[in-house]
Amino acid sequence: MLRIAEHFHDSDLGRQRQGNEDNYYVRAPLFVVADGMGGAQAGEVASEIAVRQFEGGLPDGEDPGEALADLIQAANSRIHAQARSDAHHAGMGTTTTAAYLTGDTVVVAHVGDSRCYLLRADDLIRLTHDHSLVGELVARGKLTEEQAESHPQRSVITRALGPEPDVQVDIDVFPARAGDLFMLCSDGLTSMVPEARVKPVLESARSLEDAGRELISAANEAGGRD
Ligand code: CA
Repeated sequence: MLRIAEHFHDSDLGRQRQGNEDNYYVRAPLFVVADGMGGAQAGEVASEIAVRQFEGGLPDGEDPGEALADLIQAANSRIHAQARSDAHHAGMGTTTTAAYLTGDTVVVAHVGDSRCYLLRADDLIRLTHDHSLVGELVARGKLTEEQAESHPQRSVITRALGPEPDVQVDIDVFPARAGDLFMLCSDGLTSMVPEARVKPVLESARSLEDAGRELISAANEAGGRD
């Protein structure tokens, strides 16, 4: 039976935006990040609805993967309904990536292009697949990861909470080990800081808090566009 030894969470407006569209919910062993989209603060509304859906935790006795998927479906319904009924929120949407440690596995539920990573031993492993135009092109072998990182349409998302009445949720279960480091993040980090730079920060920082602050600084130094 593993437990969460240490966790750190933070979000930053960056340098170019008026509002922060990212929201998170942290109550170990449950961690959620959501990155909203939509004009006039609608993205912030969508991502907040998404993370709030997790405030009651997971229902007892239910399969954690199904429970996470149900919560994301419920959030999708609420965001979709609000986007349709309120002109200020028309077209809003959000990514959602959730991770839940149970026993000795981590269950990851995922929609969109936020990400979950695992640092284990010498490897930084991306555990989620981006539901984005470039993510699909990479999966089909039409683009390399390097081309995707600088592609002009890299922010085009192909699956999100909000646009449709139902959403397909990716659920994956990963065996965890003592010493594993899991990282959830939005593209505010990954669009600014390449994975090759993320890894040494996670490996060399004296604490998770130092690592988190250093990654936020790196994203801002790279332009802080998101
Ligand atoms: Ca973003």
